[in-house]
Amino acid sequence: MNTTIKKSLTLDTPVQYVKGIGPKRAATLKKAGVETAGDLLNYFPRRYLDRSNLTRIRDLRAGENVTVVAKVLSAEKRRGRTNRFILLVGDDSGILQCVWFRGLSYIANAFEAGETVAFSGKVTVFRGPQLVHPEYDKISGEGESNPLNTGGIIPLYPSGETLFKSGLDSRGFRRILRGLLNEISENVHETLCPEVIRNQRLMALPEAVENVHFPKNWDALHRAQYRLKFEELFYIQFFLALQRKHREVEKKGIVFDRIGEQAEKLVKKLPFELTESQKKVLREIQNDMKSEKPMNRLLQGDVGSGKTIVALIAMLIVTGNGYQAAFMAPTEILAEQHFLTFHQFLEDIGARVALLKGGQKGSEKQEILNRLSKGEIDIVVGTHALVQESVEFHKLGFVVIDEQHRFGVMQRAVLRRKGIHPDVLVMTATPIPRTLALTLYGDLDVSILNEMPKGRLPIITAQRSEGKRDAIYAFIRDEVSKNRQVYIVYPLVEESEKLDLAAATEGYETLSKYIFPELTVALLHGRMKSEEKEEVMRNFKAGRVNILVSTTVIEVGVDVPNATVMLVEHAERFGLTQLHQLRGRIGRGPGKSTCILLAQYPLSDDAKKRLRTMTSTNDGFKIAEADLEIRGPGELFGTRQHGMINLKIANLVTDGPILEQARKEAFHIVHSDPDLSNEQNRVVRETYVNRYKGKFGLIEVG
Ligand code: ADP
Ligand code: MG
Repeated sequence: MNTTIKKSLTLDTPVQYVKGIGPKRAATLKKAGVETAGDLLNYFPRRYLDRSNLTRIRDLRAGENVTVVAKVLSAEKRRGRTNRFILLVGDDSGILQCVWFRGLSYIANAFEAGETVAFSGKVTVFRGPQLVHPEYDKISGEGESNPLNTGGIIPLYPSGETLFKSGLDSRGFRRILRGLLNEISENVHETLCPEVIRNQRLMALPEAVENVHFPKNWDALHRAQYRLKFEELFYIQFFLALQRKHREVEKKGIVFDRIGEQAEKLVKKLPFELTESQKKVLREIQNDMKSEKPMNRLLQGDVGSGKTIVALIAMLIVTGNGYQAAFMAPTEILAEQHFLTFHQFLEDIGARVALLKGGQKGSEKQEILNRLSKGEIDIVVGTHALVQESVEFHKLGFVVIDEQHRFGVMQRAVLRRKGIHPDVLVMTATPIPRTLALTLYGDLDVSILNEMPKGRLPIITAQRSEGKRDAIYAFIRDEVSKNRQVYIVYPLVEESEKLDLAAATEGYETLSKYIFPELTVALLHGRMKSEEKEEVMRNFKAGRVNILVSTTVIEVGVDVPNATVMLVEHAERFGLTQLHQLRGRIGRGPGKSTCILLAQYPLSDDAKKRLRTMTSTNDGFKIAEADLEIRGPGELFGTRQHGMINLKIANLVTDGPILEQARKEAFHIVHSDPDLSNEQNRVVRETYVNRYKGKFGLIEVG
């Protein structure tokens, strides 16, 4: 017998079975990351309209960014030197032209007369107001009433051509979500525990989900958003709190109880006195090392603040206690340079250092691997090659990860698994705004180097245009005549390493042959053989090269104090953090340093902001915050896939206060109920296990 049981929708029901979707739309939605009914409920509007944020056509002014809600009147394709599509739309105050030059075949069929549509964009005036390539969202069809007229708030959803084509524009989403919410609401259960909800006066989950999609009023919407953001941030912090607890409770780290001769010798022979800040950080590190709790410390310090020497001293404490240390750098050039620096410092100290890298010959590499596993090497410097499975240590006790944001979290985890819960020191020159630090490194302790070595002068940064090129060259010649050295940096061209190379190579040819034939100019780029790179760097360091022409390979960590001038070509193409890192290559010695940002016009708004930031401050923190604002966290860390910063509703730039509250509550729960056995916290435990553990499980940082 055949009985059909009508199953009610749950959050886990594949989205295909939601009314109005079906297999075809489900396939499209999957690409947008929506696979279940629950995912669809978490597909949040990108913004909201009500009458207060609309502009009437009569009031449009050139240059303003506006949203206009108007009825489609007529459409026309115009041929000419440039083909275009013109849509005439009107409200009760006037008529507006919307114009498209691209994607005509698609846009020409996108509208029907009589529809009410919201158009957003920047107003231009050409025989009356117009919007060129506006964003658009359909509000209601011909003959339907426009909810804006009755004081409603309309959610607009992230859409895009593919979704739009399958009927999933904002109007489509609204219709489907209305149906879904009506059907599923009794299966939406609370996901936070009563105590947290009470403490934070949060809106209940079902009400929040309803109001984020169909806000009763602005106040309800804001409370709904707050609740959903809180929840998202809460579970990330909960994960971090568990990580930390886990490490503290179960894993015994190594006790490095002696400082040892080697570290003491090094400190004595340094050609400079450590800054107070370096001393303080060293004390913090040492305290961690003495304790049997494994160290997990983030060392933050602006470029040039002297992180490397701190790490080296710590590594010598490690070797002094009979363990090995590993130092991971983000690029080969940097690994090579650190290796040379360590080598110099350690010459008469007796710690054995080796360099391990990708391009090494088989036999050479094998030799190093053997010695590492036998314990005949004390400190190994390398790139990600260090985390390959074939690398075995004899007694790994300490790991330094330099310029952390470039390493995958996975690599951090893999390397740590090789040791007996080694102590880990993560170093970054990118000062991270607190919200991000709490999200990415929320399980780490933080030390800050907030003092530059004595005698450094601030770098002078100037923005120049092509017209000043000759004057710039004259300046460079002048500086070289005072025995200073110069970097000339070429940018990334469209993310292609090859083109990147071409620009630098060409620049090098021109500069060495025609501009500075009397000077020694050298070229450095990522594709050169290691020996060649080493040779160039050695020559530059020794002062035998006046001008180093380079791609961005010098971005991190390269350290030549006598180099005091940097010219950045096409500075408008660089990101802020990158410019700051680059600039950090100069200003490392007692000489006055100058950074010239040569920009090609016209500049985008973002490029203008970036260059203005660079010329107005040397403060890495200010720069990082500006960067976070311009680019958003995903871009900033090159880890868009990173579950923890790929947020659905919370915003790490603007939601800092919510994050602090969420962190407080999450850490409190883990602290007061470590095994989550309290009945009160059951809902948190279950939600975490069901929804979040799979996602974060990858990032086993312990
Ligand atoms: P970063 O923090 O950018 O990694 P480095 O560790 O490369 O900085 O240090 C920058 C330069 O400053 C190096 O040449 C280093 O030897 C030097 N340096 C480090 N500490 C001091 C100090 N206390 N006094 C003077 N120079 C220092
Ligand atoms: Mg460094």
